[in-house]
Amino acid sequence: MAQLKRTKLIQHQQAKGNVLLIYTGGTFGMMRNTAGSLVPFDFSNMVDHLPTIKNLSLNIDVIEFEKPIDSANINPEHWKLMADVIEINYHDFDGFVILHGTDTMAFSASALSFMLEGLSKPVILTGAQLPISEPRSDARENLITAIEIAAAKDNGKPIVPEVAIFFDYELLRGNRSKKVESMQFDAFDSGNYPALAKAGVKIDFNRGAIFSHQNKFLTVRKNFDASIALIKLYPGISSAYLQAVVNTRGLKALIIETYGSGNAPTDTYLLSIFSEAIKNGIIVLNISQCQGGRVTQGKYETSKALEEIGVIGGLDLTTETAVTKLMYLLGNFSFEEVKTKIIQNLAGELTI
Ligand code: ASP
Repeated sequence: MAQLKRTKLIQHQQAKGNVLLIYTGGTFGMMRNTAGSLVPFDFSNMVDHLPTIKNLSLNIDVIEFEKPIDSANINPEHWKLMADVIEINYHDFDGFVILHGTDTMAFSASALSFMLEGLSKPVILTGAQLPISEPRSDARENLITAIEIAAAKDNGKPIVPEVAIFFDYELLRGNRSKKVESMQFDAFDSGNYPALAKAGVKIDFNRGAIFSHQNKFLTVRKNFDASIALIKLYPGISSAYLQAVVNTRGLKALIIETYGSGNAPTDTYLLSIFSEAIKNGIIVLNISQCQGGRVTQGKYETSKALEEIGVIGGLDLTTETAVTKLMYLLGNFSFEEVKTKIIQNLAGELTI
């Protein structure tokens, strides 16, 4: 498990605010070794690559994973670690920026949005498509603006009291985001929810779209139960494959990624496998393969049958959010509560 290292990166006599940077790894902080491969660099050298960070007039502390990781290696233990860091330091900082690889950033942002119930400060995840050591890197702009957003206040109150992703001039709700691009700089999108801010000459906040918890006391729940499975439907999907997944030992919930507004083949083999699973106490959740729109079970005949056998329609949950929300709910709540809460709006992740 990752250990942590703490440094005071920037200190000002008359700082306008305090931001904590949590450095987990990813392309952002890599540089080429002599063999030409990308490897993590010592984060204390970051200011050499970004001297203008000093002009922000903010105190910036850094807590880094001792061994920065490629975000493909993220697991719930790392989410717990990030939530621990935020919980322990919650009262000492105005906002938090998490530097994270782009590959699983949407999963981590989503998980944190559920763990940090009652959040009233910004938690902004960002990263880069090109390492900060590269001349054309997007790391500098992403980090500077993410820090500005984490410190931004109106009348003493944080403007963005939620978990969000800042990338390529856009601030997106974390639990609505998806990585959609691996070559261009605009790596993230939130098909079902407007951007929370756009950064141009000024940062233009979309105040009406920003989430605010009713209860402002931070409660951090850190348990995750990964006894879930995810099936993406495709024409010709075999009963043997479906059956094998449903038979997974200890399975508690199954997510099916269906077509369009929640449609699946009406073949009896498929319906009877799902129906049997539900009778055996497995939660079956229907989400769409589309990036925009929502699941409306019953709109077509091809989704009505799912509704009738007890499949739960997952509205406009993204795959990343369905996965992390189910793992979070199964880790912290009873089976009946999981079934109710999965389609309740807990942190701005779905539209009822
Ligand atoms: N594989 C890298 C990661 O997710 C990619 C990135 O950072 O953009 O850690």
